[in-house]
Amino acid sequence: MPALRRTAASIALAWLAGCSDDATQPAGLAPAPAAARPVDAARLRDAEADAANWLMTGRTWSEQRYSPLRQVDEASVGGLGLAWSYDLATPLGVEATPIVADGEMYVSGPWSAVTALDAKTGARRWSWDPGLSARHRARAICCGAVNRGVALYEGRVYVGTLDGRLVALDAKTGAVVWDVLTVDPDEPYTITGAPRVVGGRVVIGNGGAEFGVRGYVSAYDARDGRMLWRTFSVPGNPALGFESPALEAAAKTWTGEWWKLGGGGTVWDSMAYDPELDLLYVGTGNGSPHARWLRSPEGGDNLYLASILALRPETGELVWYFQTTPGDSWDYTATQSIVLADLEIGGRARRVLMQAPKNGFFYVLDRESGEFLSARPYVPVTWASGVDAKGRPIETPEADYRGAGRMISPGVFGGHNWHPMSFHPGTGLVYLPTQRMPAFYKLDPSFAPERGAMNTGLDYSTFVHGSADPGAAVAITGALVAWDPVAQREVWRVEQPTAWNGGTLATAGNLVFQGTATGRFVAYRASDGERLWEAPAGTGVMAGPVSYEVEGVQYVAVAAGWGSGFANSAGPAATAAGVRGAGRVLAYALGGKASPPPTPPPLGPVPEPPVRSEAGAAEVERGGLLYARLCLGCHGPFAIGGGSLPDLRYSSAETHARFVDIVVGGARADLGMPGFGDLLSAEDARLIEAYVLEVGRPR
Ligand code: CA
Repeated sequence: MPALRRTAASIALAWLAGCSDDATQPAGLAPAPAAARPVDAARLRDAEADAANWLMTGRTWSEQRYSPLRQVDEASVGGLGLAWSYDLATPLGVEATPIVADGEMYVSGPWSAVTALDAKTGARRWSWDPGLSARHRARAICCGAVNRGVALYEGRVYVGTLDGRLVALDAKTGAVVWDVLTVDPDEPYTITGAPRVVGGRVVIGNGGAEFGVRGYVSAYDARDGRMLWRTFSVPGNPALGFESPALEAAAKTWTGEWWKLGGGGTVWDSMAYDPELDLLYVGTGNGSPHARWLRSPEGGDNLYLASILALRPETGELVWYFQTTPGDSWDYTATQSIVLADLEIGGRARRVLMQAPKNGFFYVLDRESGEFLSARPYVPVTWASGVDAKGRPIETPEADYRGAGRMISPGVFGGHNWHPMSFHPGTGLVYLPTQRMPAFYKLDPSFAPERGAMNTGLDYSTFVHGSADPGAAVAITGALVAWDPVAQREVWRVEQPTAWNGGTLATAGNLVFQGTATGRFVAYRASDGERLWEAPAGTGVMAGPVSYEVEGVQYVAVAAGWGSGFANSAGPAATAAGVRGAGRVLAYALGGKASPPPTPPPLGPVPEPPVRSEAGAAEVERGGLLYARLCLGCHGPFAIGGGSLPDLRYSSAETHARFVDIVVGGARADLGMPGFGDLLSAEDARLIEAYVLEVGRPR
């Protein structure tokens, strides 16, 4: 039996799982328009002035996540209380930004389910669930059965589902109006991002680059679901011809047979739109597999991975691009928040686009031309020493993780992930949820793609028992950072004890709201970061909050619920705060006195396993390798759960009795635990069980 050490450093390794301020505005605004007209093109265009509502995922096409409401301000915020809550009845991660229009709230949750609520009372209007087909997609999910939100347009609610569908629901009833498949169901695509509506087109991307897919974004006619265009982010097999001159040009930056694993570059989250320039901005993700040495062995920038693409929304044509991480080998997606603002830079008014992608640099670009304006590190960065005059990162020797592997900052979870940042036009600051999460990267030189598994090309063997301890304990922390995008410097910060804290909301009341991984919902003064108010959320908060007004009352609401990528795959770090998944929508208002929903109790001490394994050390080791490759991403390193999905150390005798049925036969597929009969034999499952029994013992 090898010593199964769980040092701080080995625990830290677990991240590898792949996986204008209007001062004259009075407090308490006019009521929402009576018998408001549907949210149509004109209302979307004028969303900025529509202070009472939160019509789009980032409130406006600029994605600033700034509310002009000021009833709740730095003086009154102390009187904020819970007005209502709604129990989403799930232990899984909740990442959605609610949409609020005219007193109605629409929020998505795990398994792509959608709920409509009375935004004043939290009473449920309707709910819709895509059904078992979404749950049966679990094998293709890198980072939790999550959904980051819906779009609302002309009386319909649009949602992308885990099984790759784009669905239009009647906003009044939840009835399906149309339902189209946007992916090849035989490929490991999933949808977790929120659709955006531009010019009557519903724009949606997808994910799957950890498994091996070719990324793209598509637009559908909002009326009938007819596909209008599809733009791939990376070139396909040249022998089949290229879909556009842009892809033909991109192919010159790839080598080898990249198309065999798809190439990656998925458009899985962020988008923004400038109606004056008529440009749609989307961010693209990492390559498939992660390491360029495997994906494009003779080098090359691998366009358009890890890039911001400016597209013509009518046709999907590429107008300009900016690649944040040429030749990405570190899972440095550029799918993080894209925020548009007008800033004065060097004495000149510039229409800019801002992004803090996973690679650790905060970028400011001219959003008309794509011209690089500036970039500075917003977290410690070891893979690059800076950027050159055109914004291209200058790689350090530390970036190369062939051979023995290397600890690199940021790690695969990034200096900033999908948790949305906000921009306050009054302070001129960006409120950025950052994290210090280096990761140990090690290339798997014998990598061979395996259908139905993660195909990152990274070596997971170090996650069996921490034997490749790189020697240094790594503290995983977070910080809310107020960033001046003109000066490219930090103005204030609030340190946080762990990573994966929530998205942010800026308001005209000189406030910034953010939930935390440790289960708090907090208001800070936007100008200096002083903490002014907080409330317990009863679960970790990851999503971005919103603010809206109903009948003269301003609400601040957030969809809370711990779970998803970091929680599932980080185990010990994710459970350190003791939080558990418990999805709920929380809405706060001045004088609110509602009782909070119950906080799930801690799991208690790890019990002695109900069964014994007769397996020897070598078998446990083999089980550990299988576990690290196929199970760790959801059930955590060393079988330590992250507070959301079942913690295997607590498995019952009945679960152990059915272990092979569940793992190989898919006996719990309807609950979201897929079967692995295509990759694992019954004997393999027994080895995995032996590993779980050994490593999961109380100690
Ligand atoms: Ca990724």
